[in-house]
Amino acid sequence: MKQFKAESKKLLDLVVNSIYTNREIFLRELISNASDAIDKRKFLSLTDASLDTDFCIELKPDKAARTLTVTDNGIGMDEKELENNLGVIAASGTERFKKEKGKETVEGLIGQFGVGFYSAFMVADKVTVVSRKIGEKTAHVWESDGSSGFEITEGDRAEAGTTVVLHLKEDGDENYSCYLESNHLKTLVKKYSDYIRYPIRMLLPKKAEGVEKGEVYELTDLNSMVPVWKKRKNELGESELDDFYMHTYHDFTPPILTIQTHIEGAVEYTALLYVPSEPAFDYYTKDYKRGLSLYCNGVLVMDVCSELVPEYLGFVRGVTDTPDLALNISRETLQHDRRLRAIATGLEKKILAELEKLKNTDREKYEKFFGAFGKALKFGAYDNYGINKDKLKDLLLYYSDAQKKNITLKEYCASLKEGEAITYACGETVEKIAMLPQLEALRADNRDVLYFTDVVDEFIARMLGEYDGHKFENVASGTVNGNAKADGHESLIKRIEEKLKGKAAVMPTDKLKSYPVCLAAKGDISLEMERVMSAMGGVVKAERVLQVNLTHPAIVALETADEDTFTDAVTVLYNEALLAEGYKTEPEFLSALNRIIVSGIGAAAPQVIEVEPIVVKKKTSTKSAGKSTKKPSQKSTAKKSVDGKTE
Ligand code: ADP
Repeated sequence: MKQFKAESKKLLDLVVNSIYTNREIFLRELISNASDAIDKRKFLSLTDASLDTDFCIELKPDKAARTLTVTDNGIGMDEKELENNLGVIAASGTERFKKEKGKETVEGLIGQFGVGFYSAFMVADKVTVVSRKIGEKTAHVWESDGSSGFEITEGDRAEAGTTVVLHLKEDGDENYSCYLESNHLKTLVKKYSDYIRYPIRMLLPKKAEGVEKGEVYELTDLNSMVPVWKKRKNELGESELDDFYMHTYHDFTPPILTIQTHIEGAVEYTALLYVPSEPAFDYYTKDYKRGLSLYCNGVLVMDVCSELVPEYLGFVRGVTDTPDLALNISRETLQHDRRLRAIATGLEKKILAELEKLKNTDREKYEKFFGAFGKALKFGAYDNYGINKDKLKDLLLYYSDAQKKNITLKEYCASLKEGEAITYACGETVEKIAMLPQLEALRADNRDVLYFTDVVDEFIARMLGEYDGHKFENVASGTVNGNAKADGHESLIKRIEEKLKGKAAVMPTDKLKSYPVCLAAKGDISLEMERVMSAMGGVVKAERVLQVNLTHPAIVALETADEDTFTDAVTVLYNEALLAEGYKTEPEFLSALNRIIVSGIGAAAPQVIEVEPIVVKKKTSTKSAGKSTKKPSQKSTAKKSVDGKTE
């Protein structure tokens, strides 16, 4: 007896021993496996006619034996495959749910979405799988009770394909006998598997005239075989499109956007596309396979055809069906097919148009979408030398300092006068950017600032160059609102610059209010770009500028400071500017700061402060207006300002 892999064992436990409201989905899982297996054989049969057959899936309830059998004439499994495919669970979507959402949710989810083959153990206490792989002479039997392990032996099967026999559990709290009732099975197939492209057959009483009911049986097709993407709106059951998505892509959240399109023109195709609510768990890893399933007249040609969607729309999932592709050419050739490219172009346009529509009609939903996939669009705008930038620029959202919400470039520009620049500030998060010293004066001036929180944002701005005639300008660029003149302070500026020893140039600025200094960059490389590039191992350097607010008391005080204090003060101020920009401080910063503190306190300490009693301002309350003049409290201490004077 072979053991299940450790992972499967845990999961099996979860599947079998938890309470489900929805055990019936086991049938959908087994039928969907059978259909996949037929897909694989059908594809091979396109180039090897000997593999062609009357493809079908058959259900056989047997009341006497208390078994339900699901048989397919698909590709089949050999001994190794039986062991590997049915002995591990990693391939199935549920392991993922468990990792992502924790055990409790999983228990609810399995009921809804199934765990593939293992769901058989929700209704059976023993499962026997007899399978023969195409091209093989022998068949193998896999058998398990779902808990102690499994056994594989040699067996018999006349043709290639797979037979799954479920030995149903005894009825108790649950009724398992219903899965032996033809009518119930028929209902389940209609409910969950109607779109399966191969006939799902079962022996049912013949309906022909003159035949007594129940006398003669015939194999009857249970499903309509119309794929969901081929169904008209009025043929679609409620939430059938969402269900198809959730089941196919192992997602438990309905998609945020569903796009259906049918094109008849130079190339004919039907597509059913989905934008998920959240990125797939592996979306940002190289395991994620971008692309759509490609069908040719209902035959699956490629499971994930990456050529059908551009990289930046890699999050879109779904199906394309076209009658126009020649099936008997290799996948490699197909991928470079002119018609395939025409379909891809059409789909890209359609998706972008639908996103634009969503942005204009349901902003809240669009923001949700952008939260999940905005980065992908941004990289799309930047990648390949910005070839897609114009298609994407109006879909991008940025946080607005003035409006405190996400807005588009167009919305931002609406409030600009001719010639005014689009002002932006870079930083890790909205919260951090909001605290940048540079924003103070702009706010006082009623000028809005866009927050660039993604590393790629500033690169996109460079790529775009301008929007609607407005150039982009970084608040830390050294030019924004920085027209201050040295006005007689030239020697002070020069002295600070000398102390900085080439680390930064020094320029006056009027963009600061309560801060004495901030850091900026002149030239083409911004501080943000320097940071991004150095994170990628580059060595580009921004030309740093220390911008000083000549009206700030700290700068004014520098004029009269002695040499040592001056040196320390410049160190402290420069490091303050570094900190505000999110940089680490220099090693000499803390000792300089300590000396400044000591001299500050030291200068104040010896002075005898004569505390004048503070007169508390009259408080006018509605009850006793004018009467509440309090006596100054004995304990009152005067507030002392930095320079030692009392206020
Ligand atoms: P999933 O279908 O999500 O991959 P399952 O547990 O349902 O997970 O199945 C595991 C694997 O077993 C499948 O990927 C497939 O390779 C194989 N398999 C299951 N049922 C069949 C079948 N009827 N015919 C051929 N192979 C099958």
